[in-house]
Parts: sequence; structure tokens; C-alpha cells
Amino acid sequence: MVATPSPSGSLVVIRRSGSIAVIIPAAGSGRRFGAVHNKLFAALGGKPVWLHSVEKMLAREEVAHITLAISDDDHRTFVKQFDEYLMSDRVRLCPGGAERSDSVACALATFASDPAIEYVAVHDAARPLVKPSDLTAVFAAAQQSGAAILATPITGTVKRCPTPFLSSTMDRRELWTALTPQVFSVALLRSAYARHRGRPATDDAELVERSGHPVSIVAGSPDNLKITFPEDLTIAEAILKQHAEQP
Ligand code: C5P
Repeated sequence: MVATPSPSGSLVVIRRSGSIAVIIPAAGSGRRFGAVHNKLFAALGGKPVWLHSVEKMLAREEVAHITLAISDDDHRTFVKQFDEYLMSDRVRLCPGGAERSDSVACALATFASDPAIEYVAVHDAARPLVKPSDLTAVFAAAQQSGAAILATPITGTVKRCPTPFLSSTMDRRELWTALTPQVFSVALLRSAYARHRGRPATDDAELVERSGHPVSIVAGSPDNLKITFPEDLTIAEAILKQHAEQP
């Protein structure tokens, strides 16, 4: 990966409306969250977690359409909540897959090549708190380099421990936690997925890196947390309140 400057007015901003297709993988089981229902249906600020993520993207004029990959088990609830909260022909549902990358691949296959769409942004449904300024920055970086992701610098000390008695310390100045959205030129992401032969990858940037294309890092806000455990919702509520007070 290569680092690019963090958001500054100097980056070229994608202004062309409708040039980005968004994929929102939402087909996880959320097992670590421990609820009966998918964690994405948990209420945050009075509405489901997934809806925040979708609305953040819907608010962007650069976004042409949003494809939400969902599991069969959740289909009924998503359709119900769609009718209840969302009246937009820019959002559609598609079946997800067993792994996150399968869900993204399924969504990518649902839209045909369209010269108007130049970029694909993949954003976890479980990240409802991404800031508009971070979206602007990562969209702009992708326009410059073809591949850009939001990330935050690692603040703790990271140990590599292949076995319990063999640890080494990583140089944290080089380490970042990858967030989403991850934004790529359509051709680059399609080609990275075409080469993907099922080797596990925990994000889309990893597949693009394997294809040899560098991925730019854009320093994003740590507010953009992924809801994983029930206690994350408590933190998310506090961040949401703060965003409402200081947008
Ligand atoms: O499991 P984790 O929270 O890391 O998943 C990140 C995102 O990927 C979530 O929004 C989840 O719903 C989605 N996902 C998916 N298909 C899977 C696994 C996860 O769309 N098979």
C-alpha cells in the first residue's frame, strides 16, 4: 500500500454525479454480536444500523446506485424495513454469499458495465458512522490512484505471535487498521475479483493488492467503527449524538 496525503483541499474531488456504484455487504451472520437477529437490525438512534450506512451513501450525488447484499435468512426483514424506511429506486437488494468477498462478488455481478459508472465503493453495512468529509476524501483519492481506502493508524503496540511462546513486536508506525469505504475503479475491482480463487481475504483491498495495484491509504476518523459486539452500540450511540451536535 502507499500512503497519500490525508484530506486537504488540494485533492481533486469527484464532482461528476452518478459516477460511483456502491456495494454494501450486509449478509453476515453477526455471530459475535450474540443476538437472535442480525446485528444490522439493531436500533441505533431509533433506526436500524444498516439504514444509517445506506443513507450516508444515498446522500452523495456521486453515487448512482447502491446494492445491498443480504442473506436468505434476513430477506423478509430487509424487505419489511425497506418498505418502512426507504423509498428509493437507487437502492436494491441481492443475495449475499458465505464469505464477505462472496457477497461483494455477488453484488458486483448484478450490475453490467455502464460507461457512466467509473468507480465502485464497498462499504460495510456494519459501519453506520462514516463521516461525509471522509467520503469526500476517499472518493477523491480513488480518482487519483484508482484504489483508495479509509484507515486509521494503529495506536497500541502490536505483537506477532504465531505460537504462544514466540512473540515479536511490529513497528506500529507502519501499521493501519483498514476501514471502509474502499473505493476502486470498476475495471480494477472486477479484474481483482476475476482472479480471486477463493483464497481468504478480509477486505477488498487485499484482492486488489494481490493483483499488483497499489492501494492508497486515506486517514479516516476512528468514529467509523464496525459494530461487532453489543458494547459497540453503546459507543456508536454516543458518537451519533456527538455528530448530531457537531455535524
Ligand atoms: O463479519 P464482519 O462484521 O466483519 O462483516 C463485515 C460486513 O460484511 C458486515 O456488514 C457483514 O454483514 C458483511 N458480510 C457479508 N457476507 C458475509 C459476511 C459478512 O455481506 N458472508
